Amino acid sequence: MKYILIALAVYFCYRFLVPRKQGRKPYKESIFQKPANVIDDIMVKDPYCGVHFPLNSGVKAYDGQNELYFCSEDCKNKYFANKTKK
Ligand SMILES: [Zn+2]
Repeated sequence: MKYILIALAVYFCYRFLVPRKQGRKPYKESIFQKPANVIDDIMVKDPYCGVHFPLNSGVKAYDGQNELYFCSEDCKNKYFANKTKK
């Protein structure tokens, strides 16, 4: 009976220590090796109204040279309407 308790104690020590050692690396990698399109908290600036918003919730547009992100369809339309006026 004593040996079973010791074995259990060793087993729980092992389970407690090993995931902490191995858990660190994947955590770091998950931050730095995430593909760019998975990161959803990048803040971008609306070139029309100047508001900052998360990239994923933005409206993507292409002005012929650059990819632009707008906070709404409305801003996108106004931006291009302004551009074509000039
Ligand atoms: Zn806007």
